[in-house]
Amino acid sequence: MTFNDLQIINPILKAIELANYDTPTPVQTETIPLILEGKDILASAQTGTGKTAAFAIPILQKLYQTKDQQALRKIKALILTPTRELANQISENFTRYSRFLNLKNTAVYGGVHQRKQESILYKGIDVLIATPGRLLDLMNQNIIHLNQVEYLVIDEADMMFDMGFIKDVNKIIESVPKNRQTLLFSATISKEIEYLAKDNLLSPIRIDIAPEVITLDVITQSLYIITKKQKTALLIELIKTENIASVLVFMRTKHSCNKVVQELEKAEIKAEAIHSNKSQAHRERALLNFKKGRLTVLVATDIAARGLDIKALDVVVNYDLPETPETYIHRIGRTGRAGLSGRALSFCSYEEKSLLRTIEKHIDQKLTMVDHPFSNEALTAKFIEKPKQKKVSQPRSNKPISSKPNNDKSSNKPKRYAASDKSPYKPKSNNAYSNTATSSKKSKSTWQKSTNNKPSFNQKTYNKPNHNQTPYETKNNAR
Ligand code: AMP
Repeated sequence: MTFNDLQIINPILKAIELANYDTPTPVQTETIPLILEGKDILASAQTGTGKTAAFAIPILQKLYQTKDQQALRKIKALILTPTRELANQISENFTRYSRFLNLKNTAVYGGVHQRKQESILYKGIDVLIATPGRLLDLMNQNIIHLNQVEYLVIDEADMMFDMGFIKDVNKIIESVPKNRQTLLFSATISKEIEYLAKDNLLSPIRIDIAPEVITLDVITQSLYIITKKQKTALLIELIKTENIASVLVFMRTKHSCNKVVQELEKAEIKAEAIHSNKSQAHRERALLNFKKGRLTVLVATDIAARGLDIKALDVVVNYDLPETPETYIHRIGRTGRAGLSGRALSFCSYEEKSLLRTIEKHIDQKLTMVDHPFSNEALTAKFIEKPKQKKVSQPRSNKPISSKPNNDKSSNKPKRYAASDKSPYKPKSNNAYSNTATSSKKSKSTWQKSTNNKPSFNQKTYNKPNHNQTPYETKNNAR
């Protein structure tokens, strides 16, 4: 399948070529023809699958084909997305694909002065990308009118719920003409997303795209047992002794992000934090500096990091273990991309032991425990599961980790905890995530549930296309 086969017009094909896209991704192959046909879509597809182009390209094509070049620009397409970063990324995508179309887009979001956004809006745009809060503000001030919108995209719908934006989203939808095409994208399709679709989409085709493949086999997953207090010192030690050039560090709170950045700077390591309290300008600059290699460390909270398109990342550090195993997979999947290998280092304190166990159970694999300069024998012992069978004498290789600092800095590789056959830290070979199309058990069961319980949705799955579709019935044309 090529972009040519998808009936895409020449000026967009030219732009796609300049973007160096060879072939369409699964979500693009599935959705572009349907959007061009005018169908409403409910798609489960995550960031990283190419979903932005999947909706941006056909929307631009339809706008271009119906545009009266003499008329003033009006907002004809509205893309709702939960975060400023995603809004900017989507806007960049629209700009990239529309370079030969004379169609304009802009992104509006909170956290920055509205004057610049206002002046762009007054000049006229065709596509608006917005976060819900700022959009409502601008609508209430009569700066934005949505009465000409023909295409509505609700992006990352599950995140809209998670971030408490759904009321605002519903208010905005009410201001968009009912005679529109609606596309709803969500990483997962929960009951509440199905209700949102039922209320706002018309006979939608449902498409399930397997998440971006995260091949855990290419990611070295190491475990550092460490006290809470020593985590920053360990981070600094590892960056310095192992010459790590780019590391994304995940933390639970904004406050601790700031503190760690200060400590890293004191140690002369270039670092910046991104989280929701940072200004938009700061977040953009930090991300750009990190992507360009001008920063060694980017410290982020999960919300700020979601959907960030960072390629070629050497190392991910879970400074705090995440609350859910799905977040763990998502975090470590930022490394080991595009066929490269990667490393994920998890710092685990005693308080996080149960989180560690949940992650290991979920991935059906034990993380490899690593000896390090701050290893503490007593603490480490608390993590070693005693085999249930009768005690047998320990083989030599299973000797406990020394609590003494490791002064051997000649080795660039982390020392793995020696794993004998009986060691609980020997990784299992039947890794549930390696080389599979779906990366989480949860997403698989969601899919099964939705096919079993919701036969009224048109089902399309990349792996299991089903062309015997029955239209989804909306209550009295529910829009
Ligand atoms: P998205 O899921 O929309 O955030 O896209 C993830 C990344 O994939 C972005 O860097 C896009 O520029 C890139 N991308 C989208 N479509 C394609 C394609 N067909 N071929 C190669 N890269 C693509």
